[in-house]
Amino acid sequence: MKKLAHQIETVVKWVVDEDPDLSWLQGQDYRCKESCTVKHEHCDETQNEKQNVQDTERLAAYNRQEWWMEGCTVKAYLNGKEIGYAALWGIESDREAEYTKEIEADLTAEAVEDAETWLKKLA
Ligand SMILES: [Zn+2]
Repeated sequence: MKKLAHQIETVVKWVVDEDPDLSWLQGQDYRCKESCTVKHEHCDETQNEKQNVQDTERLAAYNRQEWWMEGCTVKAYLNGKEIGYAALWGIESDREAEYTKEIEADLTAEAVEDAETWLKKLA
């Protein structure tokens, strides 16, 4: 008996995000909007300023091209035809290798799921 298993192939691609949203590094108030009763660390004036200094330095490093933003796309193919897709954008280039693996695994699973959904519609 012939098995009719679908041979779904996936292709992972990393691309540079040329026009990323970096507004989160351009000065923000980390403190709670309402008056904070919990006394979070980020609600402390000094901590908030410290975080903003770090963000400014991070943005300067971006402008020096020490890091950049990337997107990861995964396409799923069956017999050369693209039938599934998954993507994630806004990922920092100097991330841990572990995180890269995690993203690729998650997106691959998502793209395969997308492909299987598409295949089920045909059945
Ligand atoms: Zn707070």
